[in-house]
Amino acid sequence: MSLTPTQITGLLALVSALGLAARACFVWAGARAEDNRRLRARLEAFQGQVGDRLTRARALRLSERARWKGWRDLVITRIVEEGPDVRSFHLKARDGRPLAPFEPGQFLTFRLHAAGAEKPLVRCYSLSGDPGELGEYRVSVKRLSGREGVPDGVGSSHFHRLSEGDVIEAKSPSGHFFLDRRSQRPVVLVGGGIGITPVLSMAKALVSRPDAPECWLFVGNRDRRGKLFATELEALKAAGVKVVLCHSRPEADEHPGQDHDEAQRVSLDLLRRVLPDGRRRFHLCGPAPMMADLVAGLEAWGVAENDILYEAFGPATVKRAPTPTGMGKDAADVVFAKSGKTRQWTPATGSLLDLAEAAGIALEAGCRAGNCGTCAIPLTEGEVSYLSPPGEPPEKGTCLPCVCVPRGRVVVQS
Ligand SMILES: Cc1cc2nc3c(=O)[nH]c(=O)nc-3n(C[C@H](O)[C@H](O)[C@H](O)COP(=O)(O)OP(=O)(O)OC[C@H]3O[C@@H](n4cnc5c(N)ncnc54)[C@H](O)[C@@H]3O)c2cc1C
Repeated sequence: MSLTPTQITGLLALVSALGLAARACFVWAGARAEDNRRLRARLEAFQGQVGDRLTRARALRLSERARWKGWRDLVITRIVEEGPDVRSFHLKARDGRPLAPFEPGQFLTFRLHAAGAEKPLVRCYSLSGDPGELGEYRVSVKRLSGREGVPDGVGSSHFHRLSEGDVIEAKSPSGHFFLDRRSQRPVVLVGGGIGITPVLSMAKALVSRPDAPECWLFVGNRDRRGKLFATELEALKAAGVKVVLCHSRPEADEHPGQDHDEAQRVSLDLLRRVLPDGRRRFHLCGPAPMMADLVAGLEAWGVAENDILYEAFGPATVKRAPTPTGMGKDAADVVFAKSGKTRQWTPATGSLLDLAEAAGIALEAGCRAGNCGTCAIPLTEGEVSYLSPPGEPPEKGTCLPCVCVPRGRVVVQS
């Protein structure tokens, strides 16, 4: 069969059109494949993220459920020497089940069966690790050695006699001194001596955030021998935390800029000189005089009271007029029946525990935050208000003097 030129031209046009269509289909299919590939990759990434989040959310839910009441056995899995007389104890649940999560700055309350002690001791130690590590806790304990005529610290010495594999009893993490992890406000952390433990945990929590706000960490020690967590501080620095090492009495051969940044204690003058401004949230933990000076100084500098958070490891030295809710703020008599002493409480006194200590009445106290229950005493007359809600409500007929104040005249049995 022979074709006319017109038919040949038509056929060629048809073939070419088919070719073009096929090519277009091919390109389109290729583009679709590319789109699909990209889409699949995005979907996989998204599934990965969702998966990560779900895994984390599940882990969090599981560990949230893992919050426990009363005492729980924890096993010491690792002990690390951090510096002179300071050891870190890594802890896991003895039953292998998840541990409860904690906020950076919170602490564990331990019941210690120290050799020679008549009854178990209750002591609190801040969690010094990263709250993101859900599987284990870390506390870092400074052994308090006595001087002439003064015995060693019982609880801290007991801790330092413990070995890996030993079991220790603890309550769920608690405490009101913690970092708000969602806040975008710039943060200033100050840790003096062993008071670095809660603020170290805070700094670690901050740097794990992709959108971390500016963070300054002032670390106070006497000299380079007292320096703790040197490697971790370097890592924090590398992650963007502005670490300032302050040595109040540096050794003669210390190199400024290497062993320390500032040859002075952490003071208000230093903060004012170094910080761009005071519009930050301050978290302080350290020796009594440092805390008293800094809190008063920051307030005088104009930092809002709500932006100054602090924790004392011993008797409170910072006195602020308490502002509990739903109570009168009037002076009231407190009768310490067993000691036969009556003292007047005023809002400037602080808690009932502060009043007792000022009167020379020794009350046992653990956390000083209403969580451990160590200071509970019978309240036989009158009523009290709480400065902050206790971790667990006190038993009927008792009160927790570390966080309560009188509502009118009260009688306590101590
Ligand atoms: C919320 C919170 C968090 C804490 N976090 C940490 C932390 O992370 N790391 C840490 O190391 N500590 C921390 N502490 C402090 C800790 O709880 C203990 O108070 C500390 O370890 C001392 O306890 P201890 O039993 O060893 O000393 P204690 O036996 O209670 O003695 C305390 C001090 O008094 C002296 N002393 C004892 N008897 C006498 C006497 N007869 N006369 C004169 N002096 C005497 C001792 O030498 C010692 O210096 C924290 C405290 C609180 C409240």
